Amino acid sequence: SRGSRVVGRLAPSPTGAQHVGNARTYLIAWLSARSQGGELRLRIEDIDSPRVKAGAADLLVEDLRWLGLDWDGPIVVQSQRLSVYRQALQHLQAQELVYPCTCSRSDIALAASAPHAEHEGPVYPGTCAGRQVADAKLLQQQGRAYAWRFRVRHTPVFTDRLAGEVHLDLRRMGGDFVVWKNNNTPAYQLAVVVDDAAGGITEVVRGDDLIPSTPRQLLLYEALGWVPPAFAHVPLVVGTDGRRLAKRHGDTRLVQLRQAGVHAEALLGLLAWSCGWLDRIEPIRVQELLPLFRWEAIPRQPFVLLPEHLQAI
Ligand code: GLU
Ligand code: ZN
Repeated sequence: SRGSRVVGRLAPSPTGAQHVGNARTYLIAWLSARSQGGELRLRIEDIDSPRVKAGAADLLVEDLRWLGLDWDGPIVVQSQRLSVYRQALQHLQAQELVYPCTCSRSDIALAASAPHAEHEGPVYPGTCAGRQVADAKLLQQQGRAYAWRFRVRHTPVFTDRLAGEVHLDLRRMGGDFVVWKNNNTPAYQLAVVVDDAAGGITEVVRGDDLIPSTPRQLLLYEALGWVPPAFAHVPLVVGTDGRRLAKRHGDTRLVQLRQAGVHAEALLGLLAWSCGWLDRIEPIRVQELLPLFRWEAIPRQPFVLLPEHLQAI
């Protein structure tokens, strides 16, 4: 029915070639939406300017086509939506939920005393939290660069389709976070919420490295008065050393596999097997996976990609 229409999304960053791990997450996102008769959007997250690589967006579109993962409607490109993000920032400013922060990375590292989790930066010590929105005017007149930080007062708990109930403490994980960067572009946390809300996205399926982002995004949903989607964070694909796929694990780039003549069906078979939907690795098409897709079968641990897995396809 219309009221329960499912809308999923694929949100790749064109920061380099997509690899087997990305394909696995996109496959799960695609199957979840399509197996419910839902729609799927494609959004290119290209506002992370220093890391964006020329040609990477075209390449990832080709990767998705090769895999047979289709989407509905036009491709959303974040760099073309800056005015929409700015409106959301203004909405936060109007509520005094953000403040201008002039701290540099090293200011924060120096001022932050508590040790921090390895993957999170130091906890922002609140140096600029006494400022109000109106104080930005003076900073501007002084020609000082500043970011906008969101005031974290609590950490929303959420229930993840795969990870279960997630309780984090944002005050111990970076504290007040940046929603607008000091180079005058939106931060990932704001852009993703604005886009998912504007796109009517009802389910977000993405890598579990983004779990710490979710409570931040839920705070933005609250602040902006929008209904959040459901979340499913997929365990990553790792190498034999247990670390996330990278160059040292050999060439697992999809473009390389395509060019080496690997059939998409062969890779899909490997991915489907890794998700517990097939008993052995055998070629299969995405359409054939629709009736086999089950959340419950997906292992809750990272998938360790062995060199022989890729040799087998
Ligand atoms: N663009 C992000 C990435 O490729 C994903 C963001 C998201 O799914 O929310 O890692
Ligand atoms: Zn500051």
